[in-house]
Amino acid sequence: MRAAVWHAAGDLRVEDVPEPGDPGPGQAVVAVRFCGICGTDVHEFAEGPVLIRPSAHPLTGKAPPVVLGHEFSGMVAAIGPGGPAGLVGARVAVDPCWRCGTCYWCLRGDYHICRLGGSVGLASDGALAPLVTVPAEGLVPLPDEVGDTVAALAEPLAVALHAVRRGGVGVGDTVLVVGAGPIGAAVVLVARAAGAAAVYASDPAPARRESALRLGAAQAFDPTADDVRREVFLRCGRVGPDVVFECTGVPAAVAGAVEAARRGGVVVLLGVGHGAAEVRPAAVTAYERTIVGSLGYNRDLPRVVGLVAAGSIDPGPLVSAVVPLADVVGSAFEPMAAGAHAGLKILVDVTA
Ligand SMILES: [Zn+2]
Ligand SMILES: [Zn+2]
Repeated sequence: MRAAVWHAAGDLRVEDVPEPGDPGPGQAVVAVRFCGICGTDVHEFAEGPVLIRPSAHPLTGKAPPVVLGHEFSGMVAAIGPGGPAGLVGARVAVDPCWRCGTCYWCLRGDYHICRLGGSVGLASDGALAPLVTVPAEGLVPLPDEVGDTVAALAEPLAVALHAVRRGGVGVGDTVLVVGAGPIGAAVVLVARAAGAAAVYASDPAPARRESALRLGAAQAFDPTADDVRREVFLRCGRVGPDVVFECTGVPAAVAGAVEAARRGGVVVLLGVGHGAAEVRPAAVTAYERTIVGSLGYNRDLPRVVGLVAAGSIDPGPLVSAVVPLADVVGSAFEPMAAGAHAGLKILVDVTA
């Protein structure tokens, strides 16, 4: 079968690979319909390995080359021994977290921060291919109301939903979202669904400010031109937003995000940055702000599917293009790595 295979930084090839074998215990094989390209995938393409292990992954045993793709929809093709055989033929979204099932965190139910965990498409071959092996416990059956295109967005939307839950956004709250890329835009959408009275966004890219507005932001600011903290402070009754989401991972943005929250407010860090951020301890203690980390999702995909099925969120505007698998390097990875893609989410039609 044809697949998009990561060999090294700058070396992603659409090439023939063997089809996955029969799924083992705890596994399933999914026939992929659509697969989204994540910022993580682009980082692996541009400067990896970042999350890809250069040698055998401790849980899956997989070493590069590896098929990318962890945001996908499809149909269950096979279920491993002892699994839910009745799901064969079901349309699904997939929680792609591999987990050991026995560590301290897995036993607490926190499988998303498993000591050995990894994701399909990084720690094992992914969904930029017609067939993919996944953890059977990650299968999320789709009701008829949720189409295959939108279902491929369930994974990034689950990242946003998890962050909104971690931030404790409540009915009537005010929210600031720093960085309106795919994840920030999804946070705008989900925070509105959680009952936020007003969501403000900031992003230097005009196209991203416009899409934030389409997804329900009350206003979107340009951090290179506006004093975002002051503008949002004034619009939140000279109090400031209840919850701030830092979605860029840019160390310099973290201090600003902390200082933008109201006294007693919450700051959720979900952008994954590796540099050092300077935060004044007094900006946390003297204002009794709470800083929370948020990683991935923990049983959040079924909640996303439920929200879409109920009509509470319409993630359609997140999709900026659908490209065939054969063109994925030139039509998706190269422009995204060059910063030349102003849209939000590119989906890959792996059957085209
Ligand atoms: Zn991702
Ligand atoms: Zn574990």
